[in-house]
Order: sequence, then C-alpha cells, then structure tokens
Amino acid sequence: MAAPGSTDRAVEDHAVARIVIENCAIATVDAHDTEYATGHVVVAGDVIESVGAGRAPADLAHVVRRIDGTGQLATPGLVNTHHHFYQWLTRGLATDHNLFDWLVALYPTWARIDAPMLAAATQGSLGMLVKGGATTVSDHHYIFPEGAGDLVGAELAAVAEIGARITLARGSMDRGAKDGGLPPDFAVESTEGALLATEAAIDAHHDPSFGSMVHIAAAPCSPFSVSTELLRQSAELARRKGVRLHTHGSETVEEEAFCRRLFGMGPTDYLASTGWLGDDVWMAHCVHLHDSDIDAFARTGTGVAHCPSSNARLAAGIARVPDLLAAGVPVGLGVDGTASNESGELHTELRNALLVNRLGPHREAALNARQALRLGTYGGAQVLGRTAEIGSLEAGKLADLVLWKLDGLGHSSIADPVTALVFGAAAPVTLSLVGGVPVVEDNRLTRVDEDTLARTARTEARRLARIAAAG
Ligand SMILES: [Zn+2]
Repeated sequence: MAAPGSTDRAVEDHAVARIVIENCAIATVDAHDTEYATGHVVVAGDVIESVGAGRAPADLAHVVRRIDGTGQLATPGLVNTHHHFYQWLTRGLATDHNLFDWLVALYPTWARIDAPMLAAATQGSLGMLVKGGATTVSDHHYIFPEGAGDLVGAELAAVAEIGARITLARGSMDRGAKDGGLPPDFAVESTEGALLATEAAIDAHHDPSFGSMVHIAAAPCSPFSVSTELLRQSAELARRKGVRLHTHGSETVEEEAFCRRLFGMGPTDYLASTGWLGDDVWMAHCVHLHDSDIDAFARTGTGVAHCPSSNARLAAGIARVPDLLAAGVPVGLGVDGTASNESGELHTELRNALLVNRLGPHREAALNARQALRLGTYGGAQVLGRTAEIGSLEAGKLADLVLWKLDGLGHSSIADPVTALVFGAAAPVTLSLVGGVPVVEDNRLTRVDEDTLARTARTEARRLARIAAAG
C-alpha cells in the first residue's frame, strides 16, 4: 500500500511491481553518454523509474525482484532497423553472388512462401535477434504470393509470442520483369492491390501509443522492383496515415546504373522526386551515396539502416557511416535478411560496423566502441521514430534493457565494459527486458522453446525447398 501522503503515482495507483538491478556497469547512451562503473536501474511496471550510481534506494516498495548485476553491463535494448524475417528459410544459398544475381536466384523460391512458413521464419529470425539483445526490431516483408493467406497477421502473431516490439514494414513489389524490373512477374502484386493491402495493414495493426508493441510502415521494396507510381502513392498513403516509410536505397553500383538507365538519375534523386526524402523515411544500406546525396539526407532528416555484414556478404561496398554521422544523418544498424547474413545476430553488428568502417577512408577514426553502441541503440530508435520511448536508459523511458555477461572467458580480461561488448566476442545475455517483461534469461528465450523453433524452421525450410523444386 502507498504510504500516507505519498506522491509516487505508480505506488498510489496500482502498487506497480518494481525490478531492481544493482552492482552492474551501466552505459545509458543518453545525450551525454553517461556511464556508471557500478550503478543501478529501477524498473517500475513497464518504464524505467531511475538510473544512477551505486545501490538503488533501500526503501523502495513493491520490489518483486532484485538482481545482482556484478560482472555485467546494462545497456538499452538493441534496435534492429532492417531485416527480412522470411529469409530464415533460405539461408546458405547463392553464397557467392552479388545482389542482383542473388535476388534472381532466390525470387522463385521466395514467391512460394505461405503463412506457416513465414511464422516459422519469423520466430527463427526474431529468436536469434532477441537472444542477442534486440528488444525492438523492424521487418521489411515484401513477398505476398497470391493465396498465401494473412501473412502480416501470421508474422505479428509469431512476434508477439517472443515478445519484442516491431515496426513491420509492409513491403511490396509491382515492377516485374515485363516492366523492366528484377523480380519475375509471378512474384509481384498489382500497384492498386499493394496500396490497398498496405492501408489495410495500417488500419488493422498500427498502434501509435506510448509503449506500442506494433508499428506499421509503408515499404515498397526498392527502385528496381517497384513502379514510380507505387513509390509516389505509398509516400502519400504513409503521410495521410501518419506512419513511416522504408525502402532499400543505393545498395550497389548495379542499382545506380539501373536508375540512371531507367530514370536518368541516381537512386537518391529518383527517390527524392517521388517524395521519399524526409524525417519520416529510413532507407536500408545507402552504400553508394555521393556528397550531394548525404547533404540531401541530412537536410531532410532521412534515416539510414546500416547493414555491414550483408553489404560485405553481397560485395556491395562500405557505407559512408562516418560521413553520414558527421553530417547529422540518423543512422541505425540492421542485420538485413538472413539469406545475406546467415548469422542473423545484431550484437555482432556492433563489432562489424566498427571494423568494416575502419577499412574505409577514415581508418582508425571511423568509429569507436561507444559510437558503435549508439548506432545499435539510440540510432535505431531515431531511425524508427521512437526516441521518446526507447534507445537510452533514462527515467521515464520504456524498460527495454539488456544485461550482458562480461565476467566470463570471452571478456573477463578486458577492463572497459563497452570495449568488451563491442570489440569482444558476442556476449551472453543474462537478462533482457521489453517493457519490464523478461524475454531472455541466462541466454535462453523465456517465452518460447528454442528447440521447437529450430525444428519447426527446419521442417518449413524443407517444405519450401520441395515446393520450389516442384515449380
Ligand atoms: Zn534488405
């Protein structure tokens, strides 16, 4: 019960349960990069009540759990800003191809996906992400074969079981081979069909409230797989509905050549001409940006999902992340689909982003460990438009946080915890909370059985391969 005269809203209203985490290092990733060598986090209900140095106040009421974080680092939950969950069923194929050849090799298989396959793939992809400290994810799903059932509903139900927040980017393709596009004609939707289905997904599932578990974004796939009209009308639809816009942009030199041949301009100018620059837009990759493109992104607040492993796997190149950050462009990290990044882990992308960018022209000054952690947390929240809720450990924000075990063999001899997390091996997650609810404990998913997920994914991957082989 609340003490007489208490002004504590949480205690007065509902006797909200508290979780206290103490004795851990903390990297808040707030505006000042505040860190505590030994500190505490108090979670009340689904929000963070306090973060600070030393032990938590001793007289807190309704503490249902007290966690000793000795040897661990608390960070905000990681935010994945670009993925294609369905690709979990087609990992390890076309392993030595560039983007366009890889797409052409895989489209015919992808076009056979159905709702049970997507549900299994979602839990495989998301399971790996969440086990590795992701608490908010975005999935760009753009394959909607005729008669495949309610794919959006199936995916969201699979996500809800695991317990992460999602921005589901309802994708689309309407430029098949007969219109000069890359996908086969049987893999695309009509322009009108794609727009109506995107609007229906927004109406059915988009929840803009504080603490929302589901956002929907409008997300035509890429300049080489959608019509100019679909880009233009998707932008109008998103702005009418108040949702964000997502697509792929400037991923490869082949894409730039495609845009120049078909549209007489580069990808950024083409996307700008269809209404696709703005602070409600984020684009995956953005590897081949000219200085003028970076200026346009910065001027408009357009965000970037940096996907270093996928860019390396498909030999796409190195995105200009230090230049984007210097210009003030919001940048988050993305795993990308697991057909082009088989590990599907986001915590390793912190390290890969740092290493890959140091191979570029800025060399050792390209990124440091704290900048890499910021990309994977606050930067992701910026790109998904959720900095008021997530991305840093601050009082009043949602209790989406991760405790990383850094006293084991992989990390114990590295003194600085953020250096250990970013430069070291993939750290085990001892606890991950989404809105105060544990989704990982002791490096295992809490709400689903991992072995069942693995078996189901294998079964569905084989079924997809069989159906695709039968043509
Ligand atoms: Zn992608």
